[in-house]
Amino acid sequence: MFILILGAPGSGKGTQGKILAERLGLPKITTGDLIRKAMLDDTPLGLEFKKYYDEGKLVPDSIILGMIKEQLDRPEAKNGAILDGFPRTAAQAELVDKTLAQRGQRLNHILLLDVTEDELIRRMRARAQVEGRTDDSPEAIANRLQIYQRDTAPLIAHYAQRGIVHRVPGTGSVEQIALQIKRIIGR
Ligand code: AMP
Repeated sequence: MFILILGAPGSGKGTQGKILAERLGLPKITTGDLIRKAMLDDTPLGLEFKKYYDEGKLVPDSIILGMIKEQLDRPEAKNGAILDGFPRTAAQAELVDKTLAQRGQRLNHILLLDVTEDELIRRMRARAQVEGRTDDSPEAIANRLQIYQRDTAPLIAHYAQRGIVHRVPGTGSVEQIALQIKRIIGR
């Protein structure tokens, strides 16, 4: 089963994705984590990522599509995965749809974590104090929210046509939200 967790930055995708992946015994593929790892390791790709990441901008598709394909083709993801942080653009969605279709698979569920903008900003500022991410500056936060609305939110309509989008109110305790997701997925 392939499940995409979609939502604005700060909506809790990472937290809920982890709980879901552990419960279903599926790998979680998180582009943000892969990007942060490449930056920490100072790989040539990591240096390229940093130019966009620190400003809260999306890494261009021309650089990231290859990484996404590689992740989907890993043997661990043969029968399913939780996708966290991608697809985030129309080109990425096309790649994911095509890669899965070639294997006779598809995205089964899209969980859309719905959180108000005020709450998103509050959470990202709080997280900035704890994690100190380089893209948690006020300017980068503003960029990330704007880019989500512009590039990623339109994917909701793309997937809604297939009737696989479930809107999950993303406010409440972590446990309450996890329980709602469990009810939606049925396990
Ligand atoms: P995240 O941890 O998902 O909030 O992602 C943090 C940052 O990593 C984003 O602001 C982008 O710079 C980059 N990033 C993560 N996933 C993607 C993606 N699928 N496409 C492009 N950039 C990404």
